[in-house]
Amino acid sequence: MKQFIKYALGPLLLVLSLSTLLGLAFGWMWGIMSFALFMTMVAARDSWQLLTLNRWLQRHQMSSGYQPGGTWSQVFGQLHRLEKHAEQTQQKLREALERFQHAGAALPSGVVVIDPDDRIRWCNPSAESHLGIQLKQDRGQSLTYLIRQPEFGAYLKAPPSDRPLILRRVRGSDLSLSIQVVPYSAEERMLVSHDITQVERDEQVRQDFVANVSHELRTPLTVIGGFIETMLEGEPLDQATQRRVLSTMQSQTQRMQRLVEELLTLSRLESQQAPTPDAPIPVSALMQQLVQMGRQLSQGQHELESFIASPDSILGSESELLSAFGNLVTNAVRYTPAGGRIVLTWKRERGEGVFSVQDSGIGIPQEHIPRLTERFYRVDRARSRETGGTGLGLAIVKQIAMHHDSKLEISSEPGKGSTFSFRIAAARIVQNISAPSVESDQNNTR
Ligand code: ADP
Repeated sequence: MKQFIKYALGPLLLVLSLSTLLGLAFGWMWGIMSFALFMTMVAARDSWQLLTLNRWLQRHQMSSGYQPGGTWSQVFGQLHRLEKHAEQTQQKLREALERFQHAGAALPSGVVVIDPDDRIRWCNPSAESHLGIQLKQDRGQSLTYLIRQPEFGAYLKAPPSDRPLILRRVRGSDLSLSIQVVPYSAEERMLVSHDITQVERDEQVRQDFVANVSHELRTPLTVIGGFIETMLEGEPLDQATQRRVLSTMQSQTQRMQRLVEELLTLSRLESQQAPTPDAPIPVSALMQQLVQMGRQLSQGQHELESFIASPDSILGSESELLSAFGNLVTNAVRYTPAGGRIVLTWKRERGEGVFSVQDSGIGIPQEHIPRLTERFYRVDRARSRETGGTGLGLAIVKQIAMHHDSKLEISSEPGKGSTFSFRIAAARIVQNISAPSVESDQNNTR
């Protein structure tokens, strides 16, 4: 009401009073003419402002400096406020959309929004790499046209379910995907894909591992079980046969014990973090123990030498390093026929420390080398068993190498011999200033 009086009634009363005054002063004719003139001016001003408003509504822009008077200032003020509010809302929506798009792009899971006819409306980069699609080219394309596996088409047609679909080799890739469709509006569904390639590989490794362990344990258990059965149900054995049978049973039991011990070692190494280094371990002390161990194993059948080219110490776990280097020495003795030569060397290369065991043994065909550190992988299963191997030695060495920022390098030539090098990061090597720079210990155990 106040505004009506101020902006509508006020000006009208003013015009009326002015016209009445002019009419009283100069005659009623002047009064009427001035009233008509004033009213025409008011009408012209309103028309002009209406035109301005119309122009603004059409073009959605108005000079920001425009300041109309009277009622119109209210109308334009309100419109300005509405426009500002709409701009702010739009800005917020733009930011929210950007955030959503960034989050969608960063998601490791693939997300594809599809319409009721399975046509792609939007997808994130993970979905592009999972499903081999490109949003720019494939927007509007039917997903079932792009992914032709019949089970996928059937899954999209079926009512939504909690059970995901496992898809392999989608559009020629070697990925395994878990796909699930989530309906979220009448118009759209969302297809979510997860890369389960690594999970499947891990599961395969686990299954192989269980199968391998069972297989390794079954043979000695069958041998022992068979002997026990014979002894229980057959004729009593003479003393010599009994001795032979018991000694076979003992060696099979020892084999199982070795297997279980190595499995426990491996599992401990795999589940533990790298141990904090002991005090620096002098290479010379390690070398001494390794030579002694090699000599004991070889029983004088091999020529065994050791060289230390740099008087260093290693920052690491003494027991782990002895176990890793010891495995390499044991293998060299086991896979080198009698009369062969085994050389243990410590040297520095580009600051790194390299412990290597070189043998003149049976060697390894090239195609087996990349797989030697897999659990239970053997080039010749029968020979490994004969020599008391479990197939876990190099897997243990690899784990210890990982604990010591080290790498295991293998070079070999069938019939000529092999070199296994344990290369340790420079940060773990400490040089012993006081010790002589070159040591050589030649142990001819033949
Ligand atoms: P194993 O207990 O069978 O020796 P490892 O993991 O120590 O298991 O070694 C895996 C395989 O690598 C062995 O079975 C053998 O075939 C091969 N191998 C390891 N060291 C040598 C070597 N010095 N010379 C020849 N072959 C080797």
